[in-house]
Amino acid sequence: MVLEDSLLITGASQLLTLGGRGPRRGDSLSNLGIINDGALLVRDGLIAAVGTRAEVEALPEARAVEKLDLGGRVALPGFVDSHTHLIHAASRAEEYELKIAGASYEEIARKGGGILNSVKKLRAATAESLKKRAAAALKQFAAYGTTTIEAKSGYGLDVASELKILRLHKELAAEHPLEIVSTFLGAHVVPEEYRKKAGGAEQYIKLIEQNLLPEIGEKRLAEFCDVFCDRGAFSVVQAKRILQAGRQWGLAPRLHAEQLSRTGAARLAILMRAASCDHLEHVNKSDIQALGKSETVATLLPGCNFHLGLKQYAPARALIGAGAIVALATDYNPGTSPTLSMPMILSLACTQLRMTPAEAITAATVNAAYSLGREKSIGSLEVGKQADIAVFEVADYREIPYYFGGNLCWMTVKRGRVIHAAEQV
Ligand SMILES: [Zn+2]
Repeated sequence: MVLEDSLLITGASQLLTLGGRGPRRGDSLSNLGIINDGALLVRDGLIAAVGTRAEVEALPEARAVEKLDLGGRVALPGFVDSHTHLIHAASRAEEYELKIAGASYEEIARKGGGILNSVKKLRAATAESLKKRAAAALKQFAAYGTTTIEAKSGYGLDVASELKILRLHKELAAEHPLEIVSTFLGAHVVPEEYRKKAGGAEQYIKLIEQNLLPEIGEKRLAEFCDVFCDRGAFSVVQAKRILQAGRQWGLAPRLHAEQLSRTGAARLAILMRAASCDHLEHVNKSDIQALGKSETVATLLPGCNFHLGLKQYAPARALIGAGAIVALATDYNPGTSPTLSMPMILSLACTQLRMTPAEAITAATVNAAYSLGREKSIGSLEVGKQADIAVFEVADYREIPYYFGGNLCWMTVKRGRVIHAAEQV
């Protein structure tokens, strides 16, 4: 008799467990906890045992279970993509050529492009069409080895449209195997209709405080509240007020910080004990030191710099040197980072941020899970955690970022169930 809901996984030439205490700082980012010829025993979606093939196969429970042989491939925890803008109506391919011709992100925004362009399209889109597009994206995330994503609202910017997005997060999470962590980003930019009036920003913040947050808090439509705190978006003072209001409704803060200019947003994130501050291209030395001593994760998004053709990437080496909890994410969005591929982000982290393959993998798993408050359930392959596994068609983990532009993800497993397979297995 085969025990139902139990699975013995063998044949990992390298099993990257990332076991041990997290989050990881400094040298510990390099410790992948590799088991050669590794195996896992999965029971009811959770990891029941992990070790070498000989150790795991010797367990009495391992005898009468379904078996899966990875054929000498590399297995690691499923990627945790801790910064995405999952729900949007369309690409912004029309702006791509303007950017190539030399227009800056802010110039495009001033011409009604940028985020406001996506807002217009989202408001006009039906929930059904948005859901269809997002569902296709979720399949792609899984195909690249991602098993958990964070998803932000922020292209609605009115009560009905923001709630439409957050409800879709909930629906998609219930219907798709990927784990979706919902974040409210009503403070993405001040919407067009408020920009024209005097005191418009203040009125929009009041709408967030009085109309949006109470509904989101009561219906539990989001876990986090995020603010785009930058030149042309929200100031540090405004961001603090919005994050405090979010916290009153049980939403933990996270921040878009120091992307286009240095505003002091990273300091605000630390002060407010935010889960994460993201981007950080323009942090200064003292910000880096402060992040090194804080529990706020420094989430780097190199896909953005790559897509916009910007030369100044975030100072990953200095952040790691200072002891910051560095994470990596795609920032999947139609304007600045249209990619769902965490392996591509790892390649960029290695070549542009000068992170090693091991550091990049840790940043995309354990540390990203910590930034979402899920360090106890995902991010590493340890007993008691979810069996969230990405398997790559490589013999050495360093080949995951080394080969770029293709997709070598061979299989993705979420809570013990295969959710993507490159071929019939
Ligand atoms: Zn973003």
